[in-house]
Amino acid sequence: MSASDLPRQANAVILESMLTCPHCGFAQRESMPTNACQFYYECRNCATLLRPKPGDCCVFCSFGTVSCPPRQQERGSCAGT
Ligand SMILES: [Zn+2]
Repeated sequence: MSASDLPRQANAVILESMLTCPHCGFAQRESMPTNACQFYYECRNCATLLRPKPGDCCVFCSFGTVSCPPRQQERGSCAGT
């Protein structure tokens, strides 16, 4: 075992995103699952149920400051094929 045997982690995946509610503007920091995407998110301020915009795979891609982990890793969208 040498250091060169380790897989290269080119890009660290960000696992926290700030979700901003389009209804009331409330921003809430949320952690993202690495192996699945979150389709629904209920705003903690106004209780509006958020869903992804057309073409987005999850609420983090639509309303968060950071895209979901699968997109960060360029594996395509979590909801895809
Ligand atoms: Zn809200």
